Amino acid sequence: MVPMFLTVLGCSGSIGGPTSPASGYLVEVEGVAPVVIDMGPGVLGALQRHAVPEDAVILLSHLHADHCLDVPSLLVLRRYGPHSATAGRVPLVGPSGTAYRIGVASAEEPGAVDDLSDTFEVSTWDVTPELEFKDDDEVALHVRAGRVDHPPESYGLRLTSADGRVLVYSGDTAYGESVVELAAGADVLLCEASWTHREGHPPGIHMSGIEAGRVAARAGVGRLVLTHIPPWTDPEAVRAEAATEYTGEILLAVPDLRLEI
Ligand SMILES: [Zn+2]
Ligand SMILES: [Zn+2]
Repeated sequence: MVPMFLTVLGCSGSIGGPTSPASGYLVEVEGVAPVVIDMGPGVLGALQRHAVPEDAVILLSHLHADHCLDVPSLLVLRRYGPHSATAGRVPLVGPSGTAYRIGVASAEEPGAVDDLSDTFEVSTWDVTPELEFKDDDEVALHVRAGRVDHPPESYGLRLTSADGRVLVYSGDTAYGESVVELAAGADVLLCEASWTHREGHPPGIHMSGIEAGRVAARAGVGRLVLTHIPPWTDPEAVRAEAATEYTGEILLAVPDLRLEI
């Protein structure tokens, strides 16, 4: 039995908040590199409490600023920091345009695009929707990306350990069949819930607490962790909404929350 652990690095929705960085999550499985899912503002600082940042593989759900704009800081650390001589390249996987988007954010001059290829081996979910991380010859962690319903090209991620334990991250998404399918039977669903429920929310962007609870119930997940709640939304109201749809255990993501999956 090789456990899989989830650690919340940042969970504040849409922007960093007074008590949390923006989105970022650490997944650890013995024998493979630490995996960081999303890297919004402030996440690199939190990551330094839990892992060696230069070792981390970076997976991006989408390229909204609150999910990717600490990658340029990680690039600086990998390129110029104390371990730069041995840092090599690590995988950076995201939507199409990831190298360009991070390259623009990392450039020294307006209009320039930094070449990331000395520090990151960039690939994209549209070409490579499944990844395997091996410990010797055994697959220790499998990742599958599935498109979700959010304005830019966006993905949720399904991570499966060698023991068959499953963590699903919704990414940013509206309620719909794609996230329910991706989450089917997960042991833990890390699910966005950006709004309290009301009629008139614009379609195709985010979920309310009720909708997150509905995803968890329909997908039959073992536990629900609510995340991506913005600073202006009451987390307890979102949790109460989710509990009207889902009868299992519901947790609110907070920085440094660590769960065995
Ligand atoms: Zn977001
Ligand atoms: Zn977004």
